[in-house]
Amino acid sequence: MKIYDLVIIGSGPAGMSAAIYAQRAMLDFVMIEKEYMPGGQVVQTYEVDNYPGIPKTNGMDLGLKFSEHAKELGAKSITAEVKEIYADEEIKEIMLKNGDTLKTRTIILATGAVHQNLGIEGEEKLKGMGVSYCATCDANFFEDFEVYVVGGGDSAVEEAMYLTKFARKVTIIHRRAELRAAKSIQEKAFANPKIAFLWDSVVEEVGGDGLLQTMTVKNVKTGELTKIEADPKDGLFGLFGFIGMIPNTGVFADKVETDDKGYIKTDEDMHTNVPGVYAAGDVRVKSLRQVVTAVADGAIAAVQVERSMSDY
Ligand code: NAP
Repeated sequence: MKIYDLVIIGSGPAGMSAAIYAQRAMLDFVMIEKEYMPGGQVVQTYEVDNYPGIPKTNGMDLGLKFSEHAKELGAKSITAEVKEIYADEEIKEIMLKNGDTLKTRTIILATGAVHQNLGIEGEEKLKGMGVSYCATCDANFFEDFEVYVVGGGDSAVEEAMYLTKFARKVTIIHRRAELRAAKSIQEKAFANPKIAFLWDSVVEEVGGDGLLQTMTVKNVKTGELTKIEADPKDGLFGLFGFIGMIPNTGVFADKVETDDKGYIKTDEDMHTNVPGVYAAGDVRVKSLRQVVTAVADGAIAAVQVERSMSDY
């Protein structure tokens, strides 16, 4: 059976960057893409204006550019989902859900992170029926409706601004009286006449008859409960949750060392505690989760793999 030099798991910015560097190093590798649409989380981001050299773009375009670049250089990918990894031996095995097995000397884990659920009563039942976690995907369903956004970080505030292009009013519900988002992002939101704020507040539960029509919001300082109901003319409102991410470690969570939130621990050269296994991008413990740091991680990991290959 063929033994690859490297298998990259994940096709977001970190995985794509690793693929570009691995291709240039002429490694024998393949990248596993879980989704038919490569690009990772960034493709769901409406606006990216902090990637050097590209003053303003949208996540979809940037993700596609990464993908086209990797493919233009000749990087090969397969669309598949990983079922199990055996990484303790020198030759590692990756079992796929389609029944195939890949053998490789090294692995780069670049699986990113996914949105966190709000964890409130009624949420599961109303997902896709008013409750969403992706403004780029679902904003157009709320043209001229009222929309609420939960969270105070970069995602919540940026996505709230995007939602104002569709909704007639967007209310950010934040558990504190101060946003966490970058100051430049905050300023834009405060200046947007369609955005309102509900400070010191959390959503306790959501309800509705098949569609999101009611929710209870609690003021965490006073304990006061407020019931919010959809305008009868609308029959529903939107609730978008952006309260942070959870690492996409899935099947390898117990195979590599992680922190208490599940993010993979690496050294600055992306080595995990398992020889031959590297982690890059949002899935690893780091202080800044941005496209620019994800692509840097991917490059470093691939170069480390290249250097380790001289041992063979
Ligand atoms: P985040 O920065 O972790 O912010 C999560 C927000 O949700 C915080 O305001 C937090 O409140 C709130 N929150 C957490 N748990 C909650 C709960 N159970 N109930 C209510 N509120 C809760 O997450 P993010 O905004 O998704 O960003 C993730 C990473 O991506 C960050 O590193 C961010 O900088 C990056 N990002 C960057 C950009 C950009 O640069 N353009 C865009 C999007 C994301 P507290 O503030 O009280 O903790």
